[in-house]
Amino acid sequence: MTKFRTLDDLGDLTGKVALVRVDLNLPMQDGAVTDDTRVRASAPTILELAAKGAKVLLLAHFGRPKGERVSTMSVSMTLDAVQAVLGKEVMFVPEIAGPVVEQAVGILRPGDIAMLENTRFWKGEEKNDPELAKAIAANGDIYVNDAFSAAHRAHASTEGLAHLLPAYAGRSMEAELKALEAALGNPVRPVAAVVGGAKVSSKLDVLTHLVTQVDHLIIGGGMANTFLAARGVNVGKSLCEHDLAATAEAILDAADGASCTVHLPYDVVVSKEFAANPPSLRTCNVHEVAADEMILDLGPLAVEALADVLKTCRTLVWNGPLGAFETQPFDAATVALARSAAALTKEGALTSVAGGGDTVAALNHAGVADDFTYISTAGGAFLEWMEGKELPGVKALEQA
Ligand code: ADP
Ligand code: MG
Repeated sequence: MTKFRTLDDLGDLTGKVALVRVDLNLPMQDGAVTDDTRVRASAPTILELAAKGAKVLLLAHFGRPKGERVSTMSVSMTLDAVQAVLGKEVMFVPEIAGPVVEQAVGILRPGDIAMLENTRFWKGEEKNDPELAKAIAANGDIYVNDAFSAAHRAHASTEGLAHLLPAYAGRSMEAELKALEAALGNPVRPVAAVVGGAKVSSKLDVLTHLVTQVDHLIIGGGMANTFLAARGVNVGKSLCEHDLAATAEAILDAADGASCTVHLPYDVVVSKEFAANPPSLRTCNVHEVAADEMILDLGPLAVEALADVLKTCRTLVWNGPLGAFETQPFDAATVALARSAAALTKEGALTSVAGGGDTVAALNHAGVADDFTYISTAGGAFLEWMEGKELPGVKALEQA
């Protein structure tokens, strides 16, 4: 693994100013934060820096204000939630650079924390403008990036700053990079990947990269339909990208060439209408889907076979649910395979890493979130990692 500095490389920071990029892009409803997971993820980093005596300046974006001051997108909307999680008072500073920030730094005592305004109120943020980065850096002594979820963007606060100040990965960033390294960078083999979700078109780069990296590629969800159709299976009314048949074939060929075994389901759960517990619900072989039926989940035989595949593997990376899990009973395959993976992980037989917005929801629904080795909530950044892309925010830390 390429080396990057962590908080372990920092000694006493009394009086030093730490600029800390965190993720405060929190879901809100009626002015209140509905989920503080992201704050809790970075709390250890913030508190550790404060405990070392640093004056901690939090940097984050909130929404998409596109370079304008938009009052409804002030990051101060998250202030109460951040103070509650940290258990400490946090000063809000309505700027990210210049004399107002300088003044705030003068007022803060070692160990105090301040939150700077939404970085995206300034046009230079998303342009990664070196002048803006310089102006921000002028008020800091070190830079800590703890926002893996923003690391796929080369912005001033996620990339530019890392070149101007001694740069460190925060604890959450460090944990995420270690987990992803264990899953895909330098994994213990054999490695299985589960790729599910709605569409092949949204995950083409993921599939193309994974066939060269993993020993078993398990395809589920709507995307399995596209592969089955490419193989000549009649998938009826199923969600299916028929125009991607050649692409699906090419991915299967590439897998062949790379000795990656692709697993497609041989039984499926179908119904004539997409509703909870529909009267037309049945399980059948993939070759028996009627013209007026749609495939909404993998069948129990497929799940049993996939669980056996996982038993032979040491590492699992998972993105995408196996079925339309939001609607009962089309969550069955996802829940069952997730529980198998969780059990193997608990036994110490498997390292399991998962990510993706709906995937996290599905694994929570299955009640296994705590039993996986690591669950990434990073969304876009996690997917880009699965595509084999270099993330600018990570690369900048490695160079630092
Ligand atoms: P993630 O957000 O984890 O990357 P995706 O957004 O790619 O996952 O896919 C999740 C969606 O795929 C879910 O809303 C789920 O209902 C849908 N899905 C899975 N299987 C099917 C299927 N067979 N037919 C229709 N939709 C499906
Ligand atoms: Mg999704």
